[in-house]
Amino acid sequence: MTNENLLELAQQAREHARAGISGFKVGAALLTSCGKVFTGCNIEDPSGVGVTNLCAERCAVAKALSEGFSDFEKIAVAGGTDTLTACTPCGVCRQYLNSFCPQIKVVCMDNGGSKEYTLSELLPHSFEESFGS
Ligand code: ZN
Repeated sequence: MTNENLLELAQQAREHARAGISGFKVGAALLTSCGKVFTGCNIEDPSGVGVTNLCAERCAVAKALSEGFSDFEKIAVAGGTDTLTACTPCGVCRQYLNSFCPQIKVVCMDNGGSKEYTLSELLPHSFEESFGS
């Protein structure tokens, strides 16, 4: 699966976003090593309690983990308000991805195309490094 195909699935998942508070809709598409794709979208809690909000990336990873898949290759992220912008995972998601799949590649929109990052590029000196793992 190409990065562009994965980004397209992320954009489709974005349509389900519940972003009534921020208006910033995000979709994610997670590719497992066996070729299965799990998608996710951000889900904001209408009560406004920010800590209960769920990002698209963690939504997709939780779906995969809950169905027994834990070997991930890459995740594509597509987000924006009215139009899509270059959107990288937030700090919480970077840590979450690092905890469950430190080798994962992250694909983001970039000037109409895509850009691929390693997680260590997005999260240098991660918490896990403190334990020497
Ligand atoms: Zn996030």
